[in-house]
Amino acid sequence: MKLIGAHVSAAGGVHHSPENARQIGANAFALFTKNQRQWVAKPLTADVVAAFKARCKQYGFGPESILPHDSYLINLGAPEADKLEKSRAAFIDEMERCQQLGLTLLNFHPGSHLKKISEADCLSLIAESINLAHQVVPDVVAVIENTAGQGTNLGWRFEHLAEIIAQVEDKSRVGVCIDTCHTFAAGYDLRTETATDQTFAEFDQIVGMHYLRGMHLNDSKGGLGSRLDRHHSLGEGEIGWDCFRYLMQDSRFDNIPLVLETINPDIWAQEIATLRAFIPAS
Ligand SMILES: [Zn+2]
Ligand SMILES: [Zn+2]
Repeated sequence: MKLIGAHVSAAGGVHHSPENARQIGANAFALFTKNQRQWVAKPLTADVVAAFKARCKQYGFGPESILPHDSYLINLGAPEADKLEKSRAAFIDEMERCQQLGLTLLNFHPGSHLKKISEADCLSLIAESINLAHQVVPDVVAVIENTAGQGTNLGWRFEHLAEIIAQVEDKSRVGVCIDTCHTFAAGYDLRTETATDQTFAEFDQIVGMHYLRGMHLNDSKGGLGSRLDRHHSLGEGEIGWDCFRYLMQDSRFDNIPLVLETINPDIWAQEIATLRAFIPAS
């Protein structure tokens, strides 16, 4: 089954997010479990956790269809010891919040070397950060998102993702989220079905399709290889519809959350409906 949704608002509390997803016809969603621009958050209360779980159950959102995203402040490959320690503590808190909510995936951007350490050292720090989190929090899978390669962000080349995974001890609890905008901006073509097929063949060869635990479906304002993280509505950017039709027609993308982070929430319901119309009748 295709699990399609969007990164919905959790304003007023995470327990509001399932309703926001249901209203746009989604059967998957992403959310922040805390304010994504702040380091610390109040712990989740038992009432909020219970309400979140009850609504997910009511609307049929299982843990496999929900892809929480961590704070933008966290840099698990931070070159400076104090920043790294702060990031690791915040990441563990994010994982714990997921676990409390009964969620099993946590999507995060790998990290930045800030031109202070080598790419290889940064990738090792990221893997070590994941290993540390695994030791503290059970069950939750660390889902590394590929990036557009803006600034000094790593994770834009498939080789970066493969290198992090290679250094993670518990391979059953590490995965990848492929963002179509980031992939394209990083230089992997997605403009035709043939190009998309080749890009995923390369991903399979370097990382492995079995590590794919979620996707972000975004068109791109920036061109191929622009290294710009600028999302666009589906079909309105440089990627176009062929890529998204391809994803809907390929069963390798079944049963993982496929999440819109496109720029106009007013048309999310329409984008989801258009995507669903591409799914072949079984
Ligand atoms: Zn994304
Ligand atoms: Zn992005």
